Amino acid sequence: MFDKILIANRGEIALRVIRACREMGIASVAVHSTADADAMHVRMADESVCIGPPSSTHSYLSMPALISACEITGAQAIHPGYGFLSENAGFVQMLEDHDITFIGPRAEHIRIMGDKITAKDTMKALGVPCVPGSEGGVNDVDEAKQVAAQIGYPVIIKATAGGGGRGMKVAENEAGLEVAFRTARSEAKAAFGNPDVYIEKYLQRPRHIEIQVFGDGKGRAVHLGERDCSLQRRHQKVLEEAPGPAITPEQRARIGKVCADAVAKIGYSGAGTIEFLFEDGEFYFIEMNTRLQVEHPVTEAIFGVDLVRQQIRVAAGLPMEFHQEDLVINGHSIEVRINAEKVPGFSPCPGKITQYHAPGGLGVRMDSALYQGYSIPPYYDSLIGKLIVHGRDRDEALARLSRALGELIVDGVDTTVPLFRDLLAEPDIQSGNYSIHWLERWLAQHYA
Ligand code: ADP
Repeated sequence: MFDKILIANRGEIALRVIRACREMGIASVAVHSTADADAMHVRMADESVCIGPPSSTHSYLSMPALISACEITGAQAIHPGYGFLSENAGFVQMLEDHDITFIGPRAEHIRIMGDKITAKDTMKALGVPCVPGSEGGVNDVDEAKQVAAQIGYPVIIKATAGGGGRGMKVAENEAGLEVAFRTARSEAKAAFGNPDVYIEKYLQRPRHIEIQVFGDGKGRAVHLGERDCSLQRRHQKVLEEAPGPAITPEQRARIGKVCADAVAKIGYSGAGTIEFLFEDGEFYFIEMNTRLQVEHPVTEAIFGVDLVRQQIRVAAGLPMEFHQEDLVINGHSIEVRINAEKVPGFSPCPGKITQYHAPGGLGVRMDSALYQGYSIPPYYDSLIGKLIVHGRDRDEALARLSRALGELIVDGVDTTVPLFRDLLAEPDIQSGNYSIHWLERWLAQHYA
């Protein structure tokens, strides 16, 4: 086992990893930009190293700075969290060359899944059902028109290098296809440096269902059920729950096995998430994320496992601490993502926290790096906390979420907490009856 781990991240996820390290008796090293000198992850880690100026390109994304920080502190492994360098195959390769262990999958698997066309081809070959669409990339408008005519409108044009809900354009009919195709390509080039796009059937009322998988890197893998992340704004998740209110135990067992078998076959190591759209009882693969997800705590809650601990163990060459038959669902869990944003416009709202009080009590987990007097810097993501509740069933989890939101105090900046109070009053949210388009429609009606 490692003696010391460096966490190449900030905010709540850095704390999450530090906590796992501490429970395992492993020393932790925080890295930070000059803008984060007073951040909670720096205070909580055993050691810290300043790795650069506020801009993440020159700090949290600086590979040489991170490797130097490992060398200075003697850290033997790096946990990347999510975002930043968590899905960068070149970084994994570079760490290998410096004898530093990357806590995550092999570079090869990150590379395959990082290119959505290759990912789809690979998954298809492994027997995973995919959204109908183009075979590989689509190079010009005429080809796009042919594919669209075959699969039928509406279609969605997606960037092969896409992520974070960006680089996607919907075309309702042939008249709209040319503009959608050209905009998708130029946006993809601008955002990801790669203009390649592909086409999928645009599903009208699917749910976003993702399967948590975990591999030991030696050909054994398990699944930890699904998370329903259908509540989205601009293709970004807002609220997640597990188990999915629309998924039956049979559907879970079937798709879970397909996913676990697929990652076992490629010798996948560590945590991964296979994302699907789910409509009329069928699952359609859209992408795989080769890292820990923001919403992993809902899975931890219902299975009673610590996914970060398992990631660290597997990276150190130890076996996972569970088999498929040990993984039994207990109750229901919901997470809400609290952003420093002003509703209804969702404009970022950095600034000083004048008062902070986290909710507590049975079944409540608050993952946040906030504290009273902390100043949220303007340079990074606006996620400031995740409130996760766990109950014996969905109704209890909803009641607990409402109660916990009532206890939470974040003063000094605007947050998305009022949105969740409003959502909890909606019958569709109470019954779990929503698709990926539900929230956008609701926002257009209520927050316009
Ligand atoms: P990203 O990597 O940017 O997150 P994804 O491929 O995971 O992109 O898609 C993100 C979201 O976009 C999905 O959860 C869904 O809401 C929407 N989406 C993607 N593909 C389709 C599709 N074929 N039909 C309808 N919605 C889609």
